[in-house]
Amino acid sequence: MGDLNAKADYVFKVVLIGDSAVGKSQLLARFAKNEFNVDSKATIGVEFQTKSLLIDGKMVKAQIWDTAGQERYRAVTSAYYRGAVGAMLVYDMTKRQSFDHMTRWLEELRGHADKNIVIMLIGNKCDLETLRAVPVEDAKEFAEREKLYFMETSARESTNVETAFLTALTEIYGIVS
Ligand code: GDP
Ligand code: MG
Repeated sequence: MGDLNAKADYVFKVVLIGDSAVGKSQLLARFAKNEFNVDSKATIGVEFQTKSLLIDGKMVKAQIWDTAGQERYRAVTSAYYRGAVGAMLVYDMTKRQSFDHMTRWLEELRGHADKNIVIMLIGNKCDLETLRAVPVEDAKEFAEREKLYFMETSARESTNVETAFLTALTEIYGIVS
């Protein structure tokens, strides 16, 4: 897979949302650059990164947007959501509150985004199993009720990160192609 410099057949905008410190920026760094930074600073300024990959023989350029430290409720602007075909809704599985806030984030997302947007619920930091505060059943139930895809990931240990993005991008491809 890796980065390929050919012209893209498709460009998919995907937004990362969720509370501060759940690991959004590290998930993006892991997916786009295979990096993880233990002392990651809060994100400043609007940022996105791209990664090109082949899906079904087509060149798909994923343009993944990271919040610019706008994680307070209703602080993310509508420009952030505009044109998004996918969303990664991230909570920290060691912080119950970040999961409880998923309802709000989802509401905000659905208020701004296209109705066909593909949404992946992500319980990040699954390397910290001993500190788990969100049972996997709770997350699965929420995902089923809201018709979201769901995966637990670790940006730190690289668990399921590629799979989560790839699953979302493949679903998006299936809708737009
Ligand atoms: P953001 O505010 O949602 O962008 O969160 P960051 O990506 O900046 O991460 C917040 C903190 O959580 C940082 O100290 C990261 O090193 C840490 N972190 C992020 N992902 C993981 C993970 O998968 N496992 C563990 N143990 N820590 C993580
Ligand atoms: Mg960040």
